[in-house]
Amino acid sequence: MSTYNPYEEAKKQLKKAINVLNYPDRDSVYARLSVPERILEVAIPVKMDDGTIKVFKGFRSQHNSARGPYKGGIRYHPQVTKEEVIALSMWMTWKCALADIPYGGGKGGVAVDPHQLSPRELEQLSRNYFRAIAPIVSPDIDIPAPDVYTDPQIMAWFFDEYSKYAGYNAFGVVTAKPLELFGSLGRIYSTGYGTAVAAREAAKVAGINLQGATVSIQGYGNAGYYAAKFLHEWGAKIVAVSDTKGTIINWNGLDPDKLHEWKTTKSAKRSVIDYPDAEQRLEGDTTAPLFLNVDILIPAALENQITGENADKVAAKVIAEAANGPTTVEADEILDKRGVIIAPDFQANAGGVIVSYFEWVQNRQGISWTEEEVKRRLEGKIVASFHAMYEAKQKYNVDWRTAAYIVAVDRVVKAMRLRGWL
Ligand code: NAD
Repeated sequence: MSTYNPYEEAKKQLKKAINVLNYPDRDSVYARLSVPERILEVAIPVKMDDGTIKVFKGFRSQHNSARGPYKGGIRYHPQVTKEEVIALSMWMTWKCALADIPYGGGKGGVAVDPHQLSPRELEQLSRNYFRAIAPIVSPDIDIPAPDVYTDPQIMAWFFDEYSKYAGYNAFGVVTAKPLELFGSLGRIYSTGYGTAVAAREAAKVAGINLQGATVSIQGYGNAGYYAAKFLHEWGAKIVAVSDTKGTIINWNGLDPDKLHEWKTTKSAKRSVIDYPDAEQRLEGDTTAPLFLNVDILIPAALENQITGENADKVAAKVIAEAANGPTTVEADEILDKRGVIIAPDFQANAGGVIVSYFEWVQNRQGISWTEEEVKRRLEGKIVASFHAMYEAKQKYNVDWRTAAYIVAVDRVVKAMRLRGWL
């Protein structure tokens, strides 16, 4: 059995950043930031289609609100635990702070396998969960969003349930709502676009010209596809892509839109491995893109892919992480010594939460921005966070991920000091 405890890992990362920042009151800072401000555990009864009542366990963790309302997704997964939700809420505090959006960190979850529920049961679970956490959320207090196995339809039910509770149309209480309920344009590609911008900034630092730069991508889902699409638009060549069935390579470049269309239009079950325009097919090899001699690598699948054991085999000069946690701490150190430029996950995949923030801003003003406006502002945020991280890296002489943590933790600590919390 794995002994991995996400909350312990999150606390270790926090401690590391605090130590580098060398605050005189580092124990007090750690004491305040290593625990969430509030965590609510709720029992969610659902009347099942067979007439029985099942009770599911749900959580909402609110880690820190020094910079604004709590912000973070809600996941539905059988393995959701209190520790995981707390760790992820802490991570959201850093992600929002690094992106410099006026939010703290929150996260919610329900221990359930949503695929085992009928649509009616799923709706009742969603409404009853949100009703149960309603006393601690609002557009000014805590603004949930989707995460693993939750989607815009579930956000619409959350919004509706909260609006009934509050007695008005509270559009700003959840984000990533359907466009018909004033979700934001650009949300669909926000993560991949942000990753592409982060990769572009990292490439500049590495002295790589995007025109003709080679890119490989592990995982060709939402994040991987859109990162590929925008990098391709800017002149880069997508030379390798993998999914759960294997890897395809074409050193002349793959067309991201054609590949996406081919993978998704006829059947959701299609794999990149059968795409006609490939020079090489590596069936069953899902990790090959990680080790090709390319300029830019985008891990966009799973956590724990680049480790202490295989980091030496990574040949890319730039890594922009769309996936959460694809690189371990040991691998970070090895890659950093070799001068690889890394845009770490919570910097490079923050596009989703940034556009969530834009949605909330639009909802609160009762306006809708154009797609160009959303893209322009998103680009600005990702560029700014990348360069803040780069400055911290140079100032403190640390690896890229630690530099990102330093910027984020320091922003939160400064806000706490100004408010008299420390
Ligand atoms: P997705 O389900 O749309 O796509 C995942 C892709 O990865 C699929 O093509 C799948 O076949 C492939 N894949 C799965 N296991 C693989 C493996 N072992 N090797 C190679 N490919 C594999 O998911 P997504 O939304 O694109 O998310 C991908 C990653 O990005 C996840 O780590 C997710 O947490 C992270 N992320 C996504 C978003 C977002 O808004 N989509 C935001 C932040 C972080």
